[in-house]
Amino acid sequence: MREDDNAHADEYLNARRRMAERQLVARGIKDERVLSAIVAVPRHEFMPPERRADAHFDGAVPIGEAQTISQPYMVALMVELLEVEPGQRILEVGAGSGYQAAVLAEMGAEVYGIELIPALAKRAEAVLERLGYEQAHIIIGDGSKGYAKAAPYDGIIVAAAAPAISPAWVEQLSEGGRIVAPVGSLHHQVCTVARKVKGEMKVREDIGCVFVPLLGEHGWDRGV
Ligand code: SAH
Repeated sequence: MREDDNAHADEYLNARRRMAERQLVARGIKDERVLSAIVAVPRHEFMPPERRADAHFDGAVPIGEAQTISQPYMVALMVELLEVEPGQRILEVGAGSGYQAAVLAEMGAEVYGIELIPALAKRAEAVLERLGYEQAHIIIGDGSKGYAKAAPYDGIIVAAAAPAISPAWVEQLSEGGRIVAPVGSLHHQVCTVARKVKGEMKVREDIGCVFVPLLGEHGWDRGV
C-alpha cells in the first residue's frame, strides 16, 4: 500500500468510528460485536464511486437501479436483533450493495445474500470477493421465496419492505432461529422479529422503519 492509501484508510477508519459513536451507540446499539463489525467493514467500498463521500451519511444512499444501501443505524439494529453467532448460517434477502452481508460475515456468519437485480448482485459479489469475504455468497434470485438450496438457516434478515413474513422463510428457518424483517405497508413498516419456537412463530415488533419494497412472489408485485 502506498503512503497516501494508508492515510486514506486511516481517515475512513476514523470516519467509521465516529459513525459508530454518533449514529449507533448514541441511539442505543449495545452489542459490541455488531459495533466492531461495523467499524471493521470498509463501508465506502460498497458505495458507487460517485457516492463515496456519502459513505458515512446518517441515512439510506442511492446505489443505482433505484435501490439504496440502508442507513447504518438500520443495519446495526437489524443485525443486533438477529443475535447472530459465529458459524451460523444466515439468509439475507435483498443483498443490494453487499454491505450488510459483509457485516454479517465479519461477525463470523456464513451468509447467503439473495438479490433480485442481477447488476447489483454482480457488483456486490465482486466487492465482497475483492475484500476477501469468502463467507458471503451472493445469489441472483427472488428472495421472497427464500433460498431453499442452502436451507435451513439459523437466521433470516430481510432488507426490503415485506407485506408479511413469507411462508418460505418460516419453512427454511431452523428451530430456535429468528427472522428480522420490515413488515407493513409500502410506505411504512415495523421492524419485526419472529422466532421459531417448537414450530410456532413468536412475533415481536420493534421500531418503525421505511425500506424499499420487497418484490417477487411473496412481495408487492405478486400477480398484479
Ligand atoms: N442490504 C442492502 C440493502 C439493499 S436495499 C445493503 O446493505 O446494501 C433492498 C434490496 O432488496 C434492493 O437491492 C432490491 O433490489 C432487493 N430486492 C427487492 N425485492 C427482492 C426479492 N424479492 N428478492 C431479492 N432481492 C430483492
